[in-house]
Amino acid sequence: MALRYDVIIIGAGHNGLVAAARLGRARRRVLVLERCDRVGGACVTEELWPGFKVSTAAYVTSLLRPEIIREFELERHGLELLARNPSSFTPFPDGRYLLMGPDREATRQEVAKFSRRDAEALPRYEAMLERVAEFVEPTLLMTPPSPWSRSPRQLLQLARLGLRFIKLGPDGARALEILTGPARRLLDRWFESEQLKVTLATDSIIGAKASPSMPGTAYVLFHHVMGEAHGVRGIWSYVRGGMGRISEALAAAAREYGAEIRVNAEVRKILVKDGRVQGVVLADGTEIPGAVVASGCDLSVTFLRLVDRTALPEDFLESVRQIDYSSASLKINVALSELPNFRALPGVEAGPQHRGTIHIAPTMDYIEQAYDDVKHDLPSRNPVIEATLPSAVDPTVAPEGLHLMSMFTQYFPYHVQGSSLEDAKEAYADRCFDIMSEYAPNFRRSVIARQVLAPKDIEERYGLTGGNIFQGAMTLDQLFFLRPLPGYADYRTPIKGLYLCGAATHPGGGVMGACGYNAANEILRDL
Ligand SMILES: Cc1cc2nc3c(=O)[nH]c(=O)nc-3n(C[C@H](O)[C@H](O)[C@H](O)COP(=O)(O)OP(=O)(O)OC[C@H]3O[C@@H](n4cnc5c(N)ncnc54)[C@H](O)[C@@H]3O)c2cc1C
Repeated sequence: MALRYDVIIIGAGHNGLVAAARLGRARRRVLVLERCDRVGGACVTEELWPGFKVSTAAYVTSLLRPEIIREFELERHGLELLARNPSSFTPFPDGRYLLMGPDREATRQEVAKFSRRDAEALPRYEAMLERVAEFVEPTLLMTPPSPWSRSPRQLLQLARLGLRFIKLGPDGARALEILTGPARRLLDRWFESEQLKVTLATDSIIGAKASPSMPGTAYVLFHHVMGEAHGVRGIWSYVRGGMGRISEALAAAAREYGAEIRVNAEVRKILVKDGRVQGVVLADGTEIPGAVVASGCDLSVTFLRLVDRTALPEDFLESVRQIDYSSASLKINVALSELPNFRALPGVEAGPQHRGTIHIAPTMDYIEQAYDDVKHDLPSRNPVIEATLPSAVDPTVAPEGLHLMSMFTQYFPYHVQGSSLEDAKEAYADRCFDIMSEYAPNFRRSVIARQVLAPKDIEERYGLTGGNIFQGAMTLDQLFFLRPLPGYADYRTPIKGLYLCGAATHPGGGVMGACGYNAANEILRDL
């Protein structure tokens, strides 16, 4: 019987949509099945309260590959990036503050308030990151070569990679430290002022259940400076109308190339016979035959829920069970009647203190202590807060005169000891609000409504196992040719015709689109 679709994609997360657009552009007949009532997965805009267009999960973009924006003409499909200047504001308890951003001279002067030496060192640090990024960047839109393969193509790719590493010269050692080491040691080596270090260090723990003194956090820091906006490295943007616009633009592109996208279409089962995929069954019992299926879900969802276990080797299943999905990120989305009036830089009209990311973590030890609590499955008594106010730059996301705040906070455990999840998360959110009010006394009374998403909620709402925002931790043992599992970094699985295309694969989490793009290329190679 002739098949209606060449490829069935499970999940309209942004990676699934990128894969759909790429395959559609190559004239393949594509069907995307999404269990939610909208596309986007963790890259969505939801109208939580009338007139408030909330990026409920991902809230800023930088990593989305420029090649993808160009190839699928996302701007024509409605994508508008709003770069932020300055890009960060860190108020301190003593009333001082640090503003940083793309304006190098302004940033130099700001850093010099705390240390002249650091102001001189910062451009050299950034240049070093730039050189390492130039080494890593070409690997993003490629399938990692397998070190266990004897194929001449893969050996050649490995050799090329080795050669490029050698060309890094002394920066090679820096690259290795970034890939494996703790962010704190890296920052201590470069800088002396606590204020600069702590501002940079928050990027090293985003989405990670780790403190900056733990190995592997330097890579998380680096991952977050690898992107760009309008060609400027390390700059994060808002998206006009909210992050969902990225997914909607991708969906529009995919549809234009002929892809069919169905929402409210949950896949219940991936059908397998004799080691080959046969199609999928939806929750309503509809069977859709297909010889090629790509899953945008993480491996735990794909293999432990959707595939019959008898279809997989036991050692593979055991490796899937061992994937690190730990997470301690809790997101609070807040509707506000006015902007926070910071003691350190007063004002309720949108100013430099409101446009970028607001870091609330006064010292490196503060972050370490916040982490110490979660080690024992306790919510941090003094959480680390990364807050953004997209409405200060993009008035379309809130009703006139009102504002939106996104608070990405750490650390809140997946399993809470000693009280109900609901009580613990509301008490933790109250603590975050108290802390924010210490810096901006009008904050509490300006709150109109809030949504609190603990790791368990993130798991349920977005299908991200353990609440891990990256579909699996971004540690060296789960990166590059080890992502998602050793021997399976080429987007294929032990089941013929079944592929992976979500953030669980190389190059990992964040709204990057690279996973879906690379997976589509491998599918096209096999087709
Ligand atoms: C709270 C939070 C904040 C974040 N902040 C940022 C940020 O600011 N910037 C950034 O770049 N990244 C951020 N991230 C990370 C980023 O959002 C994710 O890594 C990325 O969106 C993952 O995209 P994906 O397409 O690979 O997977 P997902 O978005 O997880 O998509 C998978 C899709 O599969 C669907 N699905 C699951 N099961 C089924 C089924 N059985 N049948 C059909 N469909 C199914 C899901 O509903 C979902 O739509 C954040 C994530 C979270 C959770």
